Parts: sequence; C-alpha cells; structure tokens
Amino acid sequence: MTDAPAPAPVQAGTDRAACLARDAADPLAACRQAFALPPDLIYLDGNSLGPLPHAAAARVADTVAREWGEGLIRSWNDAGWIDLPARVGDRIARLIGARPGSVMAGDSTSINLFKALNAALGLPGPAGGRRTILSDTGNFPTDLYVAQGICAASGGRLRLRTVAQEDLAAAIDGDTAIVMATHVNFRTGWMHDMTAVTEAARAAGAAMVWDLAHSAGAVPLDLAASGAEFAVGCGYKYLNGGPGAPGFIHVRPDLQDRVAPALCGWMGHAAPFDFAPAFVPAQGVRRQQVGTPPILSLAALDAALEIWREVDMAAVRCKSLALADLFIALVERDCAGFGLRLATPRQHDRRGSQISFACGPDLAGGYPVMQALIAAGVIGDFRAPDLLRFGFTPLYLRFVDVFDAADRLHRILAERRWDNPQFHARAAVT
Ligand SMILES: *Cc1c(COP(=O)(O)O)cnc(C)c1O
Repeated sequence: MTDAPAPAPVQAGTDRAACLARDAADPLAACRQAFALPPDLIYLDGNSLGPLPHAAAARVADTVAREWGEGLIRSWNDAGWIDLPARVGDRIARLIGARPGSVMAGDSTSINLFKALNAALGLPGPAGGRRTILSDTGNFPTDLYVAQGICAASGGRLRLRTVAQEDLAAAIDGDTAIVMATHVNFRTGWMHDMTAVTEAARAAGAAMVWDLAHSAGAVPLDLAASGAEFAVGCGYKYLNGGPGAPGFIHVRPDLQDRVAPALCGWMGHAAPFDFAPAFVPAQGVRRQQVGTPPILSLAALDAALEIWREVDMAAVRCKSLALADLFIALVERDCAGFGLRLATPRQHDRRGSQISFACGPDLAGGYPVMQALIAAGVIGDFRAPDLLRFGFTPLYLRFVDVFDAADRLHRILAERRWDNPQFHARAAVT
C-alpha cells in the first residue's frame, strides 16, 4: 500500500468528458477486453463474484472436450492435472507477496480456514496451553463459525473471543493461541494494518491466520515480509475464477514440514499412488491438499489468473483508489440529502477496494435502493442491515462507468424509483 503511487486527485466538477479522458489515459484500459461483460451493464460486484474471462470459457471448453473427452484418465499426467493445484497456487503467491511453493489452490475458503486454524494450534506456542482464538466482530461469519466449531470440538479447551476491529492488536495477550483476521472487512472495506497486527501476534507468541478473501487481487500484499504463519483466500472474487472457484491456503515456508495437516487425505500423502495404509504427509505445502482436485474449476481459475501475469499491483491499487474516490465524490455531491452515509474509511491505507454507503430509515434500510439500481443496469449488492456495497475492480471498470453508476443512483433517489413494491421483495441471495 505504501509503495503505490498516489492516485490522481478527484477534480472538482468532474464531468463525463473528464472521465472519458481519464479512461483514454488509463494504463490498465486494455485489460477490460479480457472479460465477457454484458453490454450496457455496470458491474460493481466483482468483489463478490468476478466476471467471466474469455480465456476461462475457452480453457474450460478445451479441458472438457480435449483433456477430459479425449485424454481421459491419461490427462492426470499428460495435461498436468495432478500439479494444477500447485501451479495455480504459485500464480496466487505472486499476487499476495508469498514465496513460490507456499500456496496451494483447492478447497473452499471455509475449509482452508479450518485447515489453517488446526495447523496453527499444533505450533509450539499455541499448543502450549493457550486457550483463545482471537478475532474481530467485523469478521466474515463463516470465519467465526469455523472457529466456533473448532472450539466446540475442543471439549472446552478453546474459546473464541471477538473484539472491535480497531482493538484487535491491543487485545492480543498471553492466552492468545491464534489471531484470526480478515484483512479487508467484507461489509465496509475497512482494512487492517497487516504488518502491525502480525507483529503484535508474533511479539505475544501467537500464530497469525489471515483471510485474504477481499484482498487477493484487490490490494498489494507482502505476505512473506509480514511473517504471518498462515493465510487463506478466495478464488471467485477479485481473482475471477468463477462461481465456487477453489480457494487457497498459504503456509510460511519454514513451517510447512512442521505442521501436521488437519485433514489427512490421500492427495496430501507423500506417495499417494503407493496406496499405503498409513498416512505419511507430503513435503511442503502439498500436505495441505486433501482429496482429488476439482480440475474444471482449477482450469477456469488458472486461465483467469493468466490475465494478472503482466499486471502491476501498484497500478491496480492506484486505479482502485481513484475509481473509489471518484464514486465517493460524485455520490456525496449529487446524492446529498437522501440519507446515504459513507461507511468506508476515506483514508487510503485504511480501506480495500470496495465502498459502502449506509442507508437511513428514509430509504427503507437500502435494500430496495439496490434492487432499483440493479434494475437500472448497475450491479452492486446489499449487505444487511443497511449497506449498499460497491466493488471497484480496475481490470475492467472504467471511470465513465463510475460516473454513470453515480448518475443512475442519483436518479433513483431523486425520483424515488426505489419505492416500488417490486424492489422490496427479498431474494435468497443478496
Ligand atoms: C467470501 C468469503 C468467504 C467465503 O468462504 P467460502 O468457503 O468460499 O464460501 C470466507 N471468508 C471471507 C472473509 C469472505 O469474504
């Protein structure tokens, strides 16, 4: 974050022509062509489900027709399927500032978190009678649930303690076995100081487990420099791997051979095809693999990650902040008086790549506002109880998209178009 160049300041009186000029000068502009985006749709939800990369569609088609259809079982060797989790892991490692060979792709974020927490509990410090898994109240529910499940299974030995996100580092003490934190808050975009929290955990003898679900591909990271023991993250958000794409787990290199896997499966065995009756863990991060990797999903994620190969994360960060600053400025200028309040820190180093506005009671809490916005061709999402959430994804978003999105939001509010029964009915997925 500190090494990202300062974004261009938002000009007062920003108009559509100025946005088009910024797009013309954007060094990342060409990346948009890599995505299959429906025309006339502004997609501000790539923080939740990234759009389809053309290359992912082609790759999955080829993997199905040629590798599976013709190669059949030979493709485990001939098409390199068996090594795909490690290859995809290495592509992710580059994006999160981790060393090659320290990330394994596969399993969901929830499952990877279970594996990381259990592995962390086996380290000397945490294993030495400490009782607390410490997290913050802003963490994503699945993270808290996984920790709750581990505590329940511990027969009363472990407990989960949550504090306000700002208080996390200060709350670490001699009873803290693990500090478990999601780097960027999924609701508000509030971002932890990775270096400071990891350092506080280390100083207290606790293990650090980061969830990078809203950070990988969103903000520059230097996981190796932070010294964090474990990290997990998601493949379908900023990495664009498709619905339910495999997540990933990172284990610090010096610990990889010291931690016992929590889920001992044959793909984490030193020699899976010996079919030996006793489990012997593989060397390195490979022991974190459990079962047969989901090749079709990994192929899509692999192709999606190819787009990032030439992309400079500092440039991504610079544009992300500029897009978000523009959106804040336009919404606060044009939608003032309708009951929206910025719920994301303005300070650049305290936020990720998404912006949320809280809605007052005059807007029925905001749910119908987001439905009306989606009907108007701007997809963001709603997060209970009252947040309109917008993701800013520099690979395919343009400044003019941000201008048009703010303009459509303004019209919906000014004309009260959201206050229509069709927009009040709640769907299962928000
Ligand atoms: C999106 C997200 C998850 C999702 O977990 P899955 O197991 O993929 O469903 C987990 N944690 C955080 C912080 C997230 O933002």
